Amino acid sequence: MDYRVVSIVRDHARARGGSPAITGDGRTLTYSDLDDRSSRIAQALLATGLGRGSRVGYLGKNAPEFFELMFGAAKIGAVVTPVNWRLTSAEIGGVVGDAQAAITVVDTEFAEIAAELPGRVILTGPDYEKWVAAWPADDPGFSGEPDDVVVQLYTSGTTGLPKGVQLTNVNFAVGERMAARWRLDESSVTAVPMPLFHIGGSGWALAGLYAGCHIVLIRDIDPAALVDTFERERITNAFIVPAVLQFMCQVPGAADRDYSALRAITYGASPITSEVLRRSLDTFRAPLFQLYGMTETTGAIVQLEPEDHDPEGPRAHLMRSAGRPYDWVEIKAVDPATGEERAPGEVGEILIRSSQNTPGYWNRPADTEKLQAGDGWLRTGDAGYVDAEGYLFLTDRIKDMIVTGAENVYPIEVEEVLASHPGIADVAVIGVPDERWGETVKAVVVRRPGTEPTEEDILEFAKGRLAGFKRPRSVDFVDALPRNPSGKILKKDLRAPYWDGLDRSIA
Ligand code: ATP
Ligand code: MG
Repeated sequence: MDYRVVSIVRDHARARGGSPAITGDGRTLTYSDLDDRSSRIAQALLATGLGRGSRVGYLGKNAPEFFELMFGAAKIGAVVTPVNWRLTSAEIGGVVGDAQAAITVVDTEFAEIAAELPGRVILTGPDYEKWVAAWPADDPGFSGEPDDVVVQLYTSGTTGLPKGVQLTNVNFAVGERMAARWRLDESSVTAVPMPLFHIGGSGWALAGLYAGCHIVLIRDIDPAALVDTFERERITNAFIVPAVLQFMCQVPGAADRDYSALRAITYGASPITSEVLRRSLDTFRAPLFQLYGMTETTGAIVQLEPEDHDPEGPRAHLMRSAGRPYDWVEIKAVDPATGEERAPGEVGEILIRSSQNTPGYWNRPADTEKLQAGDGWLRTGDAGYVDAEGYLFLTDRIKDMIVTGAENVYPIEVEEVLASHPGIADVAVIGVPDERWGETVKAVVVRRPGTEPTEEDILEFAKGRLAGFKRPRSVDFVDALPRNPSGKILKKDLRAPYWDGLDRSIA
């Protein structure tokens, strides 16, 4: 297949036009339907004066319209920008304004926000259908250049404001090879539960389309409903973030369902504990793939294979690894201050060099400059090390590291230990201010239903399992942890009340 993203729809329409491409909101589009409807949209966009480099917004849940719009835009060289619907209406307006979207397609569920958006708005449903039907299904035939931007995705906003990441034809050009690494083919039925404004939604969906799969869009994430969908739709592959995987395993009876169609579960985008990994293996009895990557690297760049997920085997320590980089990706750990490469096993900031690296953030030259480390290397903001065999072990985000006295504590390590406590359903570890030590370690815990662990129980549990300086000094209990739509714990929100008015130097 040609490297351009738009070739996905053209080539598959030719080769397997009648095969199902996308199911969502109760309807199924074949590859021919997708080709036909995206050509109509391309004509509609052209008629409005849009062209190469124009931005087109999408504010909606996971639905076929996103792909019609995306390929329609690609057929004239325009860029689709899916917007995070979990933001406030003012923030959504800000993103649509930041992207300078001339047209935004808005899900009827968000009709109220539509009135406040800059630019033209088209509501899904009758308005959208009239818009599509008004134009002929003539493909304008634009293909574009390697460095043309195709999709603009905003980062998750875990550490700050979401930034618009520009992703080009070249960035996606490894899509077919990646799909092969995920063992996707024309017989795969892939579930897409992660939101399309996140790379774990749209990137995963696109890989499925590259491979000619049938992709099943999940409109809302509900762990129990997802378990049903796996069984009912005979899902063969899915990308799920650790938080959702964890909640799926906690659904009563989840382990007793029929997963005979399931070929593999692919997970990633945030840290996972061994506890969740073990439960997932027991529940789904399917091979697991871990992916590590970021929006700025067009998703996955490092992968942990199913054979490295063996909790009882001699290489069980690999369960704590994110895996090894793809053939076309280079990674290294460096001293964040000097940029000097670390020896194998030594913790530093992880840098990436690959064709998947974004050319930069939209309209944010200062942030782009901070992202680029020179010579094609991109700064991840993640701390970790690469072992002698090339496996990447992530310790944590640099911003989440706790500095207590002269010691560095990586919260993930502490969370990993606490998660194995039978009374803990969910846990986050943060640094809170301390006069003597600068910061001390605090655990924020969600109790498992039916158990009542106390602060003393948990502090006691940590003794003997963690070095003194890593042990939590206090525990708070909450009903649920704050998470963003990609399932990441919002540590900055969790820290905020403790740091009110105080300065945290790692920010
Ligand atoms: P923002 O950049 O706006 O703060 P974000 O970094 O969460 O948000 P994404 O691009 O969605 O936005 O996420 C990339 C980050 O997710 C990585 O830098 C890393 O911290 C984390 N991550 C991704 N995959 C894994 C993984 N397999 N294990 C641990 N962490 C992961
Ligand atoms: Mg980030």
